[in-house]
Amino acid sequence: MSRRAVIAANWKMFKTRAEARETCGRLLQLVGDVQDVEIVVCPPYTALDAAREVVADTVIGLGAQNTHWEDEGAYTGEISVPMLEECGCRYVILGHSETRQYLGETDQRVNRKLLRVLAGDLIPIVCVGESFVQRESGRVSQVVLGQLEKALDGLTADGLSRMIIAYEPLWAIGTGRTATPETAQEVHAMIREWLRDRFSQTLPAEVRILYGGSVKPSNVAELMAQDDIDGALVGGASLEAESFAKLVRFDEQ
Ligand code: PEP
Repeated sequence: MSRRAVIAANWKMFKTRAEARETCGRLLQLVGDVQDVEIVVCPPYTALDAAREVVADTVIGLGAQNTHWEDEGAYTGEISVPMLEECGCRYVILGHSETRQYLGETDQRVNRKLLRVLAGDLIPIVCVGESFVQRESGRVSQVVLGQLEKALDGLTADGLSRMIIAYEPLWAIGTGRTATPETAQEVHAMIREWLRDRFSQTLPAEVRILYGGSVKPSNVAELMAQDDIDGALVGGASLEAESFAKLVRFDEQ
Protein backbone atom coordinates (compact mmCIF):
# COMPACT_ATOMS: atom_id res chain seq x y z
CA MET A 1 0.00 0.00 0.00
CA SER A 2 1.42 3.38 -0.88
CA ARG A 3 0.88 6.19 1.56
CA ARG A 4 -0.08 9.67 0.36
CA ALA A 5 2.67 12.20 1.04
CA VAL A 6 1.94 15.04 3.47
CA ILE A 7 3.76 18.37 3.50
CA ALA A 8 2.66 20.43 6.50
CA ALA A 9 3.51 24.01 7.38
CA ASN A 10 3.88 24.93 11.05
CA TRP A 11 3.73 28.72 11.13
CA LYS A 12 4.33 28.81 14.88
CA MET A 13 3.73 32.35 16.30
CA PHE A 14 4.16 34.05 12.95
CA LYS A 15 1.73 35.85 10.66
CA THR A 16 -1.09 38.26 11.19
CA ARG A 17 -4.47 37.52 9.68
CA ALA A 18 -3.65 39.65 6.63
CA GLU A 19 -0.31 37.87 6.16
CA ALA A 20 -1.94 34.47 6.50
CA ARG A 21 -4.53 35.39 3.87
CA GLU A 22 -1.85 36.66 1.53
CA THR A 23 0.45 33.65 1.95
CA CYS A 24 -2.43 31.21 1.46
CA GLY A 25 -3.53 33.06 -1.67
CA ARG A 26 -0.02 32.96 -3.13
CA LEU A 27 0.33 29.31 -2.17
CA LEU A 28 -2.87 28.44 -3.98
CA GLN A 29 -1.52 30.07 -7.14
CA LEU A 30 1.61 27.95 -6.84
CA VAL A 31 0.29 24.55 -5.73
CA GLY A 32 -3.47 24.72 -6.24
CA ASP A 33 -3.21 22.03 -8.92
CA VAL A 34 -1.26 19.51 -6.82
CA GLN A 35 -3.23 16.31 -6.28
CA ASP A 36 -0.76 13.69 -5.12
CA VAL A 37 0.43 15.49 -1.98
CA GLU A 38 -1.66 16.42 1.06
CA ILE A 39 -0.87 20.07 1.78
CA VAL A 40 -1.48 21.42 5.28
CA VAL A 41 -1.02 24.89 6.78
CA CYS A 42 -1.12 25.41 10.54
CA PRO A 43 -1.43 29.15 11.30
CA PRO A 44 -1.69 30.61 14.81
CA TYR A 45 -5.23 30.37 16.24
CA THR A 46 -6.00 34.03 15.52
CA ALA A 47 -5.38 33.56 11.80
CA LEU A 48 -7.25 30.25 11.38
CA ASP A 49 -10.49 31.68 10.06
CA ALA A 50 -8.64 34.23 7.89
CA ALA A 51 -6.72 31.35 6.29
CA ARG A 52 -9.93 29.37 5.98
CA GLU A 53 -11.52 32.14 3.89
CA VAL A 54 -8.82 31.47 1.30
CA VAL A 55 -8.19 27.71 1.48
CA ALA A 56 -11.72 26.38 2.06
CA ASP A 57 -12.64 23.80 -0.61
CA THR A 58 -9.13 23.80 -2.09
CA VAL A 59 -6.26 21.30 -1.97
CA ILE A 60 -4.86 23.05 1.11
CA GLY A 61 -6.03 21.66 4.45
CA LEU A 62 -6.11 23.75 7.60
CA GLY A 63 -4.50 22.66 10.87
CA ALA A 64 -4.05 24.02 14.40
CA GLN A 65 -0.86 23.94 16.44
CA ASN A 66 -2.37 22.54 19.65
CA THR A 67 -5.64 21.82 21.43
CA HIS A 68 -7.08 21.04 24.85
CA TRP A 69 -8.58 17.63 25.69
CA GLU A 70 -11.82 18.98 27.16
CA ASP A 71 -14.55 20.34 24.90
CA GLU A 72 -15.21 23.36 27.12
CA GLY A 73 -14.59 24.53 30.65
CA ALA A 74 -12.63 26.86 32.90
CA TYR A 75 -9.31 26.53 31.06
CA THR A 76 -8.20 30.10 30.43
CA GLY A 77 -6.11 30.46 27.31
CA GLU A 78 -7.07 27.11 25.84
CA ILE A 79 -8.91 26.06 22.66
CA SER A 80 -10.91 22.84 22.24
CA VAL A 81 -11.37 20.30 19.47
CA PRO A 82 -14.97 21.40 18.65
CA MET A 83 -13.73 25.01 18.42
CA LEU A 84 -11.04 23.98 15.95
CA GLU A 85 -13.52 21.94 13.95
CA GLU A 86 -15.82 24.97 13.85
CA CYS A 87 -12.90 27.01 12.45
CA GLY A 88 -12.54 24.58 9.56
CA CYS A 89 -9.53 22.66 10.85
CA ARG A 90 -8.86 19.15 9.60
CA TYR A 91 -5.53 18.62 11.36
CA VAL A 92 -3.99 19.39 14.73
CA ILE A 93 -0.36 19.24 15.86
CA LEU A 94 0.13 17.55 19.25
CA GLY A 95 3.22 17.48 21.45
CA HIS A 96 5.41 19.80 19.39
CA SER A 97 8.81 20.12 21.07
CA GLU A 98 8.33 23.88 21.52
CA THR A 99 5.01 23.24 23.27
CA ARG A 100 6.79 20.69 25.47
CA GLN A 101 9.70 23.04 26.16
CA TYR A 102 7.92 26.36 26.71
CA LEU A 103 4.36 25.46 27.69
CA GLY A 104 4.95 22.46 29.92
CA GLU A 105 3.45 19.89 27.55
CA THR A 106 3.86 16.30 28.78
CA ASP A 107 3.40 12.86 27.25
CA GLN A 108 0.38 12.33 29.52
CA ARG A 109 -1.30 15.51 28.27
CA VAL A 110 -0.52 14.56 24.67
CA ASN A 111 -2.22 11.24 25.39
CA ARG A 112 -5.39 12.90 26.69
CA LYS A 113 -5.45 15.23 23.70
CA LEU A 114 -4.89 12.37 21.26
CA LEU A 115 -7.75 10.36 22.79
CA ARG A 116 -10.06 13.34 22.35
CA VAL A 117 -8.90 14.14 18.82
CA LEU A 118 -9.38 10.55 17.67
CA ALA A 119 -12.89 10.56 19.11
CA GLY A 120 -13.72 13.28 16.55
CA ASP A 121 -12.72 13.84 12.96
CA LEU A 122 -9.47 15.81 13.17
CA ILE A 123 -6.24 14.22 11.98
CA PRO A 124 -3.61 14.38 14.74
CA ILE A 125 0.04 15.06 13.93
CA VAL A 126 1.86 13.64 16.96
CA CYS A 127 5.40 14.99 17.37
CA VAL A 128 8.24 13.04 18.95
CA GLY A 129 12.01 13.45 18.95
CA GLU A 130 15.18 13.29 20.98
CA SER A 131 17.55 16.02 22.12
CA PHE A 132 21.18 16.23 21.08
CA VAL A 133 22.36 14.92 24.47
CA GLN A 134 19.93 12.01 24.29
CA ARG A 135 21.18 11.11 20.81
CA GLU A 136 24.83 11.40 21.86
CA SER A 137 24.20 9.06 24.78
CA GLY A 138 22.58 6.42 22.56
CA ARG A 139 19.04 6.88 23.84
CA VAL A 140 17.17 7.67 20.61
CA SER A 141 14.95 4.58 20.60
CA GLN A 142 14.31 4.80 24.34
CA VAL A 143 13.21 8.45 24.08
CA VAL A 144 11.24 8.32 20.83
CA LEU A 145 9.48 5.02 21.50
CA GLY A 146 8.93 6.04 25.13
CA GLN A 147 7.14 9.21 23.98
CA LEU A 148 5.01 7.19 21.58
CA GLU A 149 4.22 4.52 24.17
CA LYS A 150 2.89 7.17 26.54
CA ALA A 151 1.12 9.26 23.87
CA LEU A 152 -0.68 6.21 22.52
CA ASP A 153 -1.52 4.68 25.89
CA GLY A 154 -5.01 3.17 25.98
CA LEU A 155 -5.42 3.20 22.19
CA THR A 156 -5.91 0.20 19.92
CA ALA A 157 -5.11 -0.13 16.22
CA ASP A 158 -8.75 0.72 15.40
CA GLY A 159 -8.97 4.34 14.37
CA LEU A 160 -5.21 4.90 14.59
CA SER A 161 -4.58 4.67 10.86
CA ARG A 162 -5.48 8.33 10.32
CA MET A 163 -2.88 9.44 12.88
CA ILE A 164 0.24 11.10 11.50
CA ILE A 165 3.50 10.90 13.44
CA ALA A 166 6.17 13.57 13.03
CA TYR A 167 9.72 12.61 13.96
CA GLU A 168 11.40 15.90 14.83
CA PRO A 169 14.83 15.61 16.45
CA LEU A 170 15.16 18.65 18.73
CA TRP A 171 18.70 19.40 17.57
CA ALA A 172 17.40 19.88 14.02
CA ILE A 173 14.44 22.17 14.68
CA GLY A 174 15.12 25.74 13.63
CA THR A 175 18.86 25.14 13.77
CA GLY A 176 19.64 24.66 10.10
CA ARG A 177 21.00 21.21 10.99
CA THR A 178 18.98 18.56 9.19
CA ALA A 179 19.22 14.89 10.07
CA THR A 180 20.79 13.04 7.15
CA PRO A 181 18.24 11.11 5.11
CA GLU A 182 19.78 7.87 6.44
CA THR A 183 19.57 8.99 10.08
CA ALA A 184 15.94 10.02 9.68
CA GLN A 185 15.08 6.84 7.75
CA GLU A 186 16.55 4.71 10.54
CA VAL A 187 14.26 6.28 13.14
CA HIS A 188 11.21 6.18 10.86
CA ALA A 189 11.78 2.46 10.20
CA MET A 190 12.14 1.88 13.93
CA ILE A 191 8.82 3.65 14.59
CA ARG A 192 7.10 1.56 11.93
CA GLU A 193 8.47 -1.64 13.44
CA TRP A 194 7.26 -0.51 16.86
CA LEU A 195 3.76 0.15 15.47
CA ARG A 196 3.74 -3.42 14.13
CA ASP A 197 4.85 -4.97 17.42
CA ARG A 198 2.63 -2.80 19.58
CA PHE A 199 -0.57 -2.61 17.47
CA SER A 200 -0.99 -4.70 14.32
CA GLN A 201 0.63 -6.07 11.18
CA THR A 202 -1.34 -3.69 8.97
CA LEU A 203 -1.05 -0.40 10.88
CA PRO A 204 2.55 0.43 9.86
CA ALA A 205 1.56 0.45 6.19
CA GLU A 206 -1.14 3.04 6.90
CA VAL A 207 0.32 5.55 9.37
CA ARG A 208 2.18 8.44 7.72
CA ILE A 209 5.46 9.37 9.40
CA LEU A 210 6.79 12.86 8.63
CA TYR A 211 10.27 14.17 9.23
CA GLY A 212 10.70 17.64 10.72
CA GLY A 213 13.83 19.68 11.40
CA SER A 214 15.26 22.29 9.04
CA VAL A 215 13.62 20.80 5.95
CA LYS A 216 14.19 23.11 2.99
CA PRO A 217 13.86 23.01 -0.79
CA SER A 218 17.47 21.84 -1.12
CA ASN A 219 17.10 18.75 1.07
CA VAL A 220 13.45 17.72 0.76
CA ALA A 221 13.87 15.43 -2.26
CA GLU A 222 16.53 13.25 -0.67
CA LEU A 223 14.50 12.96 2.53
CA MET A 224 11.36 12.07 0.59
CA ALA A 225 13.29 9.42 -1.35
CA GLN A 226 13.58 7.33 1.83
CA ASP A 227 11.20 4.37 2.10
CA ASP A 228 9.73 5.30 5.45
CA ILE A 229 9.60 9.09 5.15
CA ASP A 230 6.10 10.06 4.03
CA GLY A 231 6.37 13.81 4.22
CA ALA A 232 7.62 16.77 6.19
CA LEU A 233 6.51 19.07 8.98
CA VAL A 234 8.18 22.38 8.19
CA GLY A 235 8.69 25.51 10.25
CA GLY A 236 11.00 28.21 8.89
CA ALA A 237 10.90 27.21 5.22
CA SER A 238 7.10 27.17 5.22
CA LEU A 239 6.67 30.87 5.99
CA GLU A 240 7.29 32.05 2.43
CA ALA A 241 4.82 30.70 -0.13
CA GLU A 242 7.52 30.28 -2.80
CA SER A 243 9.73 28.21 -0.53
CA PHE A 244 6.84 26.10 0.80
CA ALA A 245 5.59 25.49 -2.74
CA LYS A 246 9.01 24.09 -3.65
CA LEU A 247 8.73 21.69 -0.73
CA VAL A 248 5.30 20.57 -1.89
CA ARG A 249 6.76 19.88 -5.35
CA PHE A 250 9.67 17.93 -3.91
CA ASP A 251 10.02 15.66 -6.92
CA GLU A 252 10.34 18.53 -9.36
CA GLN A 253 13.19 20.45 -7.74
C1 PEP B 1 8.87 22.65 13.27
O1 PEP B 1 8.55 23.71 13.78
O2 PEP B 1 8.15 21.66 13.42
C2 PEP B 1 10.12 22.60 12.48
C3 PEP B 1 10.51 21.46 12.01
O3 PEP B 1 10.78 23.80 12.32
P1 PEP B 1 12.00 24.07 11.26
O4 PEP B 1 11.55 23.52 9.93
O5 PEP B 1 12.16 25.54 11.26
O6 PEP B 1 13.20 23.34 11.77
